[in-house]
Amino acid sequence: MVETLAESGRIERESTIEALKAVPRHEFVPPERRGSAYADRPLPIGNDQTISAPHMVGIMCDRLALSEGEAVLEVGTGCGYHAAVTAEIVGDGNVYTVEYVESLAEDARKRLDDLGYDVQVRVGDGHDGWPEYAPYDAAYLTCAARELPEAVLEQLREGGRLLAPVGERRQRLVRAVKCEDGIDREEFGGVRFVPMQGGDS
Ligand code: SAH
Repeated sequence: MVETLAESGRIERESTIEALKAVPRHEFVPPERRGSAYADRPLPIGNDQTISAPHMVGIMCDRLALSEGEAVLEVGTGCGYHAAVTAEIVGDGNVYTVEYVESLAEDARKRLDDLGYDVQVRVGDGHDGWPEYAPYDAAYLTCAARELPEAVLEQLREGGRLLAPVGERRQRLVRAVKCEDGIDREEFGGVRFVPMQGGDS
């Protein structure tokens, strides 16, 4: 599956391709979905949530241009798959992830731990980011926000990047780079993610 993705040219960075190859996606899906674990599409993981399609995880890693040693904040742990792919790129102890649904967070924490990934998981509302470990080199949302969350932008270092689906029914993948006098914002194509919960909504 990863070879096909790489050949399609949609994923370019060698580190992203290697990370996708390294993570056993079947460990992250419910047993009855294991047969589809290596199909390139989202799958249900319970609580009305989904594990993102591998190509989307890959595209997001590429767009964030992650490198080894960078500290990364993820909002929306879900089953932990995307966090594991990120951890493969940036290394152990560098990924911090916030999940709104307690049972998902607990399951993901255990799963990541069992698979040997050193990823910090917290239950909470990602609108607040995770101030304790800020500043981050990069951050991303795996759920669609109405606007880029202020707190998450604040918790980036200068030059830090945030990638997030933004919008309600019509969503766009947005990348913001924090600079001295504000943010540089760039929009990519349409995407479809579950809506972000909490916040003011
Ligand atoms: N990265 C995940 C995809 C998860 S789907 C994976 O690889 O499986 C999006 C996740 O965002 C869901 O688990 C949902 O519960 C979570 N979420 C929604 N709103 C949130 C919020 N305000 N803060 C943190 N997580 C949130």
